[in-house]
Amino acid sequence: VQSPEYVSISLASAISLRFAPGRFYRDAAPTCANLLLAYDQPCLANCSYCGLAREREVQPDDRSFIRVPWPVVPSGDVIERLARHGTGRICVSMVTHARAYRDTLALVRSLRETDTAPVSVLVAPNLLDRSRLEELRDAGAGMIGVGLDAASARVFERRRGRSVRGPLSWANYWHVMETAVAVFGRGNVNCHLVLGLGETDREMVETVVRLREAGIAAYLFCFYPEAGSRMARARRPSLVRWRRLQLVKHLLEARQLALEDIAFDPAGRVASLPASAALEAAIASGLPFMTDGCPGEDGAMACNRPFGSYRPGEAFRDYPFQPEAADLEQVRRQLRLTGLLRP
Ligand code: SF4
Repeated sequence: VQSPEYVSISLASAISLRFAPGRFYRDAAPTCANLLLAYDQPCLANCSYCGLAREREVQPDDRSFIRVPWPVVPSGDVIERLARHGTGRICVSMVTHARAYRDTLALVRSLRETDTAPVSVLVAPNLLDRSRLEELRDAGAGMIGVGLDAASARVFERRRGRSVRGPLSWANYWHVMETAVAVFGRGNVNCHLVLGLGETDREMVETVVRLREAGIAAYLFCFYPEAGSRMARARRPSLVRWRRLQLVKHLLEARQLALEDIAFDPAGRVASLPASAALEAAIASGLPFMTDGCPGEDGAMACNRPFGSYRPGEAFRDYPFQPEAADLEQVRRQLRLTGLLRP
């Protein structure tokens, strides 16, 4: 039972495609179908926060990814149900496996034949070069996502590189992201970054700016410990830190805040920001606090990944829908603005 005949789908996608029973807290249904290639062997990489890592301390059957089970279902059924139920976007996630590139290409082609929704590929950069990226584009993929995850070379090395006997390299990830921009165009490549892997705020902010200059969208994820991974007992970032970084990232990308305007303390934490009308408007819009994800055909965010980094009933880390007035009141409190803004 493995790819290409079968794929894993996120539990949220499984529920909305009726492969699994369930309902969504606050009706936060997914508007993107997230598919992951499935193989009998674990991923060949060894990232310390990931549930698919090679040296994870649990039985392979218990593997989970982003804390929840990813049911394995026949690829043909998924394609047929997606065409029947519709969705805003479809994402194919590669893993580091010898067959992953070939299987991804075949899956993208079959998905595009039904023309259900635009397709993103969340790639495994160590399996790619320019000609493969061109082949994925020609097969019908419109966007490329890269899970860089670590916000600096230092954190990458510690969590994904030689320190954990992993095969991945920071330089190669950047090379593939920049090549993907050349092939797919500015605005069609995104980079997943996880807050809470041991980076400083300054490292995260500097990487967001570097990505912006390269024409790559930064998508922020909030670390949540995965059972059985090396980081199973690590703490999540505090809500105040998470909210402030969401806000800063949004303002930097909208060019409503310059790197030089952010004051950092000696530990590299954001210490203060200039108060501005743009900052107030951004908070009131709720946009900085919504999930960062690839858009649907209408240009609005489609990949909303409900409950990707928090459980139903806990504070939403990223809102999979437009936050309501009561949500925004909470967000304002979580930001602790009086300690943050300077006149
Ligand atoms: S944001 Fe969603 S659709 Fe886009 S690459 Fe990431 S997981 Fe895939």
